[in-house]
Amino acid sequence: MTGASSSLADLLRPVKHVLLDFDGPVCSVFAGLPAPEVARRLRLGLLAVGGQALDGVEAETDPLALLRLIADRHPDLAATTDSSLASLETEAVLMARPNPGGESVLRACARTGRSVSLVSNNAGSAIEAYLTAQGLSGYVAGVFGRTPGDPSSMKPDPRLLLEAMEVVGSKPEQSIFIGDAARDVQAGAAAGVATIGYANKPGKASVLAAAGAVVVVDSMQHIAEAIR
Ligand SMILES: [Mg+2]
Repeated sequence: MTGASSSLADLLRPVKHVLLDFDGPVCSVFAGLPAPEVARRLRLGLLAVGGQALDGVEAETDPLALLRLIADRHPDLAATTDSSLASLETEAVLMARPNPGGESVLRACARTGRSVSLVSNNAGSAIEAYLTAQGLSGYVAGVFGRTPGDPSSMKPDPRLLLEAMEVVGSKPEQSIFIGDAARDVQAGAAAGVATIGYANKPGKASVLAAAGAVVVVDSMQHIAEAIR
């Protein structure tokens, strides 16, 4: 894969600011506390607090999709649901499976003077808890999780990426985004930033390429090597 490696190095050379998705590139958030269990607990907690019947949300096993669904149908519950989910995500990240390649990217960026912002649909508080637990806080300039109570801030919406670039003071052409979902590539495109697709599961490479990823890799280590 010499061609792919050199194009990755060419792509990364002008980059001063690496925008990094969290779940996937950095760790598998729900590896220890599975997503369907988080979704189940989220529903139970809401029933206990609100006593309100939540029609049509029983089948959703993706906690972030569930948050979006509940906020769409019951806007009055958006803030409570988000806050409950943030607590569950914080519990989950302490059992998450780290991606060693993600840590390599963080270290490679630090060594080469590039700043890193984490841009994620997960709760910022949970991401901060993970970084603290793993001793990685010093490698990250900023954490841009979903806006609490406002799931419309989540990717594919570009606003978290735009906010990260504004805070760090980087232009889209000096930045790159690394993500493992089509919504990441779409958010990157909407923010004017090129996105490297990280295909960590079979079948993802074609999805990421079709979404418009500039390069698709199957290991975060390849990106770390190209940065170094
Ligand atoms: Mg992800």
